[in-house]
Amino acid sequence: MNISHIEHIGIAVKNLQESIDYYEKVLNLKCYKIEEVADQKVKTAFFMVGQTKIELLESTSPEGPIGKFIEKKGEGIHHLAFAVDGLEEALEFVNSKGVQLIDSKPRAGAEGLNIAFLHPKSTFGVLTEFCEKPKQ
Ligand code: ZN
Repeated sequence: MNISHIEHIGIAVKNLQESIDYYEKVLNLKCYKIEEVADQKVKTAFFMVGQTKIELLESTSPEGPIGKFIEKKGEGIHHLAFAVDGLEEALEFVNSKGVQLIDSKPRAGAEGLNIAFLHPKSTFGVLTEFCEKPKQ
């Protein structure tokens, strides 16, 4: 099990454009890409802060995971993503330690990464994502 760094922090927002304006005009960060992940029913805006990304997530449907999250908890930090070396092995490892997995197998996430989520019930309330760059 090897976590190299925090890959990104996912933040649920109601209005992507308004939140982009805040990050760009107030925090002076640059949005380098907007990507829609149809599978997750989200539109995502990316900012680079050192080697860590910030992903702003706006739901494209009230039924999507971000839509439901905002309805329950409001806007705010949604998940924390760690970059791991060996995603499948990392999932097996944490699962062997009793952590409940949302994704037992890696799947395709934004920015071409392979990703999987750990259940917040097992991670002290933090929805945790592992991600890995696909091997060339
Ligand atoms: Zn993420």
